[in-house]
Amino acid sequence: MNDISQKATASLLSVDGLSVDYGLKGVSLPAIQDVSFELRAGEAVALVGESGSGKTTTAMAIAGLLSPNARVSGGQVRYRGARLPIDDDAAMRPHRWSETSVIFQGAMNALNPVHRIIKQIAEPCVLKLGLSRDQATARARELLELVGIPADRGASYPHQLSGGMRQRVMIAMALACKPSIVIGDEPTTALDVINQAQILKLLVELRSKFNLALILITHDLSVVSESCDRVMIMYAGRIVEDGAVADVFAAPKHPYTRLMIESIPNPAMGVRVLRPIPGDPPTLARRPPGCPFNPRCPSVMPVCKIDIPALAGSAQGRVACHLHSSSLTQSDEVAAHV
Ligand code: SF4
Repeated sequence: MNDISQKATASLLSVDGLSVDYGLKGVSLPAIQDVSFELRAGEAVALVGESGSGKTTTAMAIAGLLSPNARVSGGQVRYRGARLPIDDDAAMRPHRWSETSVIFQGAMNALNPVHRIIKQIAEPCVLKLGLSRDQATARARELLELVGIPADRGASYPHQLSGGMRQRVMIAMALACKPSIVIGDEPTTALDVINQAQILKLLVELRSKFNLALILITHDLSVVSESCDRVMIMYAGRIVEDGAVADVFAAPKHPYTRLMIESIPNPAMGVRVLRPIPGDPPTLARRPPGCPFNPRCPSVMPVCKIDIPALAGSAQGRVACHLHSSSLTQSDEVAAHV
């Protein structure tokens, strides 16, 4: 099998040059730009970055769940080779939940407070799978057991469950229509450390059991190492590095990735406190010319303030940084090491 046919059969989701703008006060601001990646069946990919990096916009665009003031300004998303109408809510409905579903953060806001949870899990089974009410209720009971909640607790309202149990309900709902891709939007952020670990363990088990492809949005690198195969680092609306989790953690290429990894407390290395990256990420309205990380980068060079580095590399790993560009001039190289 040649490379091209291998790629065609292996790729479940193909994101190609995706750009999304937000309209704010009559101005169009780029939220993500030229985002491209492939997702294979059963693969777990983490989208990592600070607030405003574009990770949630990327994931919501894939699910066709962009906010009303967002506009797809370029690129496309293909699922099993067919282009998805990601900017058309009605046209995305047959796909959403059946093929791609979302575990939202903050289950209390995502669940309907006036309906029992069994009803909320059963509803998509009626609408999407065409099950009768009784069949859908039986499936909802199965799903509750699957995520570690006794089926009889299905009679509860959301406020009668703990935060961890509500997040398990969100996972049951995401799996209700047997999707191939599950997007987890910071699914453990609102939980305490013990519940975080349990929910992550559950996601890892379910992913393996159903061969799910997982896109996990997080700003927490420790979550990534426990649950994902590949990591994509986003900064100012662009992917700046991606690769296998073990490779990126062992030898980060992009200065932002390196600083993020170094910021994590590591008692074994004598680092006991969080070391934040100096400076702030740029806002949508104010992005610096050239590499968007240049005002915070310890390796900044003259070229970084002029040219946006392209994301380059291979299927094994890509990086967008002039330090790894073959066109680096001698004076830039000198500047990078002083
Ligand atoms: Fe730093 Fe330049 Fe690389 Fe941007 S392109 S991360 S400023 S070295």
